[in-house]
Amino acid sequence: TVALKDVTKVFRDGTVAVDSINLDVNDGEFMVLLGPSGCGKSTVLRMVAGLEEPTTGAVMLNGELANDLPPRDRKIAMVFQDFALYPHMSVGDNIAFPLKLAGVEPAPRGERVTDVASALGIGDVLPRRPSQLSGGQRQRVAMGRAIVRRPGLFLMDEPLSNLDSGLRAELRAEISGLTRELGVTTMYVTHDQAEALTMADRVAIMRKGVLQDVGTPTQVYNRPATLYVAAFLGSPR
Ligand code: ATP
Ligand code: MG
Repeated sequence: TVALKDVTKVFRDGTVAVDSINLDVNDGEFMVLLGPSGCGKSTVLRMVAGLEEPTTGAVMLNGELANDLPPRDRKIAMVFQDFALYPHMSVGDNIAFPLKLAGVEPAPRGERVTDVASALGIGDVLPRRPSQLSGGQRQRVAMGRAIVRRPGLFLMDEPLSNLDSGLRAELRAEISGLTRELGVTTMYVTHDQAEALTMADRVAIMRKGVLQDVGTPTQVYNRPATLYVAAFLGSPR
């Protein structure tokens, strides 16, 4: 579980990126953070990842205060929009890399890579280099590499925003399918309403650092908490 308790982030220049947010993410839940550009979505994710420290408030991971816990001790995996694969390694070696770092033996390593790759539909391109893949395939490799160690928490920041709309729709279903199959708790950032409503167990909607509404897609769409949420989601009135 993730619990944010009154979390605020004020940057050095005085920008209040996140303003007293309270949010719980349950085990196995797919939580989407939704909101327009600059509303603080990435900052929330970076605090959960340990890449930023809250100015005030508490980030709790599995019930423990994690504010000072270094990223590597958080059992998290993260995928960004501008993910980087290792260009000199094959696809298979890219996915296997985190396992290699963790000291997993070659045989089980190969098995895990094959499992993850076939779940992501890239089982047949493992020997290739990233430069020999399509954008969608590359994104699948990034996802495979992130999830291969079975993290307790999977953080994704607009992972599909560089892809065309057809591919995006396809990958949406794949990502939510895969994370549910693995039962991994997920926080997924997007500014795309349709993406949020189709993928989420629950959606958290932000505006200017403030959490406006949290609920299932049906709840936030049919009973938006504020006029802003209604307008942003295009709810009927
Ligand atoms: P986008 O959808 O464009 O990625 P976002 O919702 O992820 O936006 P954040 O990146 O979290 O937004 O930024 C929230 C606010 O904090 C913005 O006003 C941004 O300019 C500001 N901000 C982010 N990082 C810093 C920083 N290191 N120093 C100062 N201000 C920052
Ligand atoms: Mg962002």
